[in-house]
Amino acid sequence: MRHIAIIGSGPSGCYLADALLRLVPDCRIDVLDRLPVPFGLVRYGVAPDHQGTKAVARVFDRILARDRIGFFGHVEVGRDVRLADLEALYDAVVIATGAADDRRLGIPGEDLAGVVGSGRFIGWVNGHPDHAGPAPAMPRSVVVIGNGNVAIDVARLLAKAPGEFDGSDLGAFFQDAPVRTIHIVGRRGPDEAKFTDHELEELATLRRARPSVADPAVLTSDTPRTQILRDFQDLAEQPVAIRFHFGLTPDAMLGATQVEAVRFLDPAGRPTVLPADLVVTCVGYSARACCAEAPTDGLFANDGGHIRDALYAVGWAKRGPSGTIPTNRIEAQAVAQRLAAALPDGGKPGGAGLRALLDGQAVRWVDYDGWRRIEAHETASAAPGRCRRKVTAIDEMLAAAGGN
Ligand SMILES: Cc1cc2nc3c(=O)[nH]c(=O)nc-3n(C[C@H](O)[C@H](O)[C@H](O)COP(=O)(O)OP(=O)(O)OC[C@H]3O[C@@H](n4cnc5c(N)ncnc54)[C@H](O)[C@@H]3O)c2cc1C
Repeated sequence: MRHIAIIGSGPSGCYLADALLRLVPDCRIDVLDRLPVPFGLVRYGVAPDHQGTKAVARVFDRILARDRIGFFGHVEVGRDVRLADLEALYDAVVIATGAADDRRLGIPGEDLAGVVGSGRFIGWVNGHPDHAGPAPAMPRSVVVIGNGNVAIDVARLLAKAPGEFDGSDLGAFFQDAPVRTIHIVGRRGPDEAKFTDHELEELATLRRARPSVADPAVLTSDTPRTQILRDFQDLAEQPVAIRFHFGLTPDAMLGATQVEAVRFLDPAGRPTVLPADLVVTCVGYSARACCAEAPTDGLFANDGGHIRDALYAVGWAKRGPSGTIPTNRIEAQAVAQRLAAALPDGGKPGGAGLRALLDGQAVRWVDYDGWRRIEAHETASAAPGRCRRKVTAIDEMLAAAGGN
């Protein structure tokens, strides 16, 4: 029997486990996650009002339930076990840890109160234990920097009326916030923006918000994207204004201790100042080091997923923060082929060795059945109109998981 450890149970780790099960009949796979609960950004990134997208978690759940797969939740590589330990215990090890750190803009004022990265902001909205805490001060004017789907997610979540979250798993959130204006600001023009037309169009369906383009003169092309933006101009006024600005580069966040405004420069160097009590930067993410293995330029240097020896990477840890959930599936299949072709049978102990190591150090880890008990606890305690109550405290997760 050959043994493979996958560090990270997000889409890339789960898709890779699935592909390897098919390709290598005599293998056992252990999927580790630093949290007691699996599925990475499907649980903690994908917006809570897009439960249809989050439903892919059911596919991943069936993968983790398979006979030849083990789940080791609440085991952080770097805290509870070293990468070198895993390399000694398994025939191959895969880093599928995603890209958890918000990229910075590198401009003055970025550390002012009220400036947050989208990973932290969406993590808080989604109840990520790392970002749990009270709601930030109620914003009236919000500046969202970035022109991808995450920027649209942030604006939509802030603009929606409370009743528009029915069926979601949204927890404490400033649903009655007096948000009046949300500026979405991009460096380039509308045709270079990375958001998809579908996400953009959804903004026109919100009950209390009206999207529009601050300077309609930029809408010169005839693409479907520009047409959607042009159609925004015909919508009726609403209490919440979502204003798109193009061709503006962030120059400085302004304020003494709390952010009050953001200064941008247009291509001619002329300033535009937009007021803000909350700024959410949606400008990408970088991978975190995994023990001594450090990322370069936000990802783990690799050749088609191969890092060195029997160490591999997949997903955002491999290619950086790009693509959709299905992109991870296609990529995982390619990495699985490469790993399977070179997989030795070193007679290593695999999961039995990992269990002994964790138990020897009294690490409280959560197996698949424990995760299912957390899930049952969350759905049983859902508030009216919600599909679950996300548990945000690790202690409560561990208590719900029970013994393993
Ligand atoms: C805000 C946001 C919204 C998105 N919305 C959509 C959407 O609507 N549709 C879509 O198709 N895609 C969406 N995406 C993209 C999608 O989420 C990613 O493509 C996908 O999650 C990447 O998968 P991954 O497995 O590489 O990383 P992740 O999903 O980040 O999973 C990494 C996992 O590794 C674990 N981990 C990290 N470090 C360690 C460690 N040291 N030890 C053990 N475990 C560790 C983490 O806890 C996590 O579970 C969104 C992304 C973001 C950020």
